[in-house]
Amino acid sequence: MKDLSGITTTRVATIRDALAMIDGSGHGLVLLIDAEGRFERTVTDGDLRRLLLKGLPMDACLTELPTLASLVINERASRRDALELMDQRQINHLPVVNDHGQVVRVIERRDIEKPILLSTPHMGDTELAFVEEAFRTNWIAPLGPNVDAFERTIADMTGVSHAAALSSGTAAIHLAMVLLGVGAGDTVFCSSFTFAASANPIVYQGAIPVFIDCEDSSWNMCPKALERSLAKAKAQGKLPKAVIVVNLYGQSADMDPILALCDAYGIPVVEDAAESLGATYKGRQSGSFGKLAAFSFNGNKIITTSGGGMLLSDDGDLIARARFLSTQARDPAPHYEHSVIGYNYRMSNILAGVGRGQLQVLDERIAKRRAVFQSYVDGLEGVPGITWMPEPAWSFSTRWLSTCTIDPTVHGLTAKAIVERLAAEMIEARPLWKPMHRQPVFAGCDYVTADNESVCDRLFDTGLCLPSGSNMSTAEVDRVINALRNILGAK
Ligand SMILES: *Cc1c(COP(=O)(O)O)cnc(C)c1O
Repeated sequence: MKDLSGITTTRVATIRDALAMIDGSGHGLVLLIDAEGRFERTVTDGDLRRLLLKGLPMDACLTELPTLASLVINERASRRDALELMDQRQINHLPVVNDHGQVVRVIERRDIEKPILLSTPHMGDTELAFVEEAFRTNWIAPLGPNVDAFERTIADMTGVSHAAALSSGTAAIHLAMVLLGVGAGDTVFCSSFTFAASANPIVYQGAIPVFIDCEDSSWNMCPKALERSLAKAKAQGKLPKAVIVVNLYGQSADMDPILALCDAYGIPVVEDAAESLGATYKGRQSGSFGKLAAFSFNGNKIITTSGGGMLLSDDGDLIARARFLSTQARDPAPHYEHSVIGYNYRMSNILAGVGRGQLQVLDERIAKRRAVFQSYVDGLEGVPGITWMPEPAWSFSTRWLSTCTIDPTVHGLTAKAIVERLAAEMIEARPLWKPMHRQPVFAGCDYVTADNESVCDRLFDTGLCLPSGSNMSTAEVDRVINALRNILGAK
């Protein structure tokens, strides 16, 4: 329990004591308690002024204060309940009491009005300068120096030769499908445990996804399940046109065995690295393994251009083709001439300016996200039933999102129930990705596991993502830890 001596007082205190306490408390009020610590009423400086106006001296005791039924809330009530009560009564402070009526703390409106969100944009100091430069030079569109520099910096950073900045990560995955010749009736393998944007582009091309389970050790594509599905596809005479390997929550998949398998079958790999910019696999940058790789700069990712993506490859011809296709596929001619279907998928020079600024702070953002994750691990140590997303020896995860599973047999709470309880505390948490093979839109698609158990189904049923933003304060991280400890009954 917090030290409440600075904001609670009894009736033996004087008006002077109480005024001094109000000055020092920062709350604008003190709480009057009885000898047993039970809450009696709140006292504002207005209450004290009225006593002085009645002619009482500064040394008079608070026994002169009339009794008053002040509003309190029980400690088991949620923040949302507290905020509703404060809104109804138009007050900014609410004393919290236990079942014995003793004050345990004071809730302040300014502390709870702000919800803690899952992952929000976090700008650095230089984004605006790059954007301003684009304005100053009227290089608003098309493309321009920010786009060139953004592409070059990402290519250098990841060690991939070529990169094309695009309007979204989804566009990058879609162009990868186009470049690999994926068409109607083809199949493409894809991780089941992911966001729909990994798999939707397969369907844009009229192809059919086959979903592959993940492994417990990395939560990403299971090499054994991939091996099984490749063998099965070969036996059926229908090998996939490509394999989309997703790197979830800031962590690479186990690329060596996956690449070895795909090489053996001659299938190109597309790395969906939308969530793993800055992560490494055996020391090498995520996004540098696939024949093609996609990054996303959507607003919730580790860095953002407010919306955007990038396609990378060591094959310069592929990226040149991506640039062509993403700018409406205009054949070289003085008029508009088109021999293939194009797209409007390029990134603007303004947004690339935001990206250049964000890249300068990427390392800081990664360090902060990892620190947030570590705070959760430390702060929830000893709470039974929590398993954090593993980080294998070969992995350096950015911990884009802090994720864990919570054993429902330990606390009797499903992930969904915990998410709801956190929402009542104005904390945004989410279940883990709902597997693609369970999505209504992909009903009927094949799904392959390594053996009889579906790992991603279990993860979805028991897992959650906690607020993970690099702009979270220590107090916010502590609030999440305390809320979870309370929900899980581990005070
Ligand atoms: C965010 C995301 C995408 C899509 O990126 P956008 O830029 O939002 O289109 C694709 N795959 C995964 C795994 C993602 O998390």
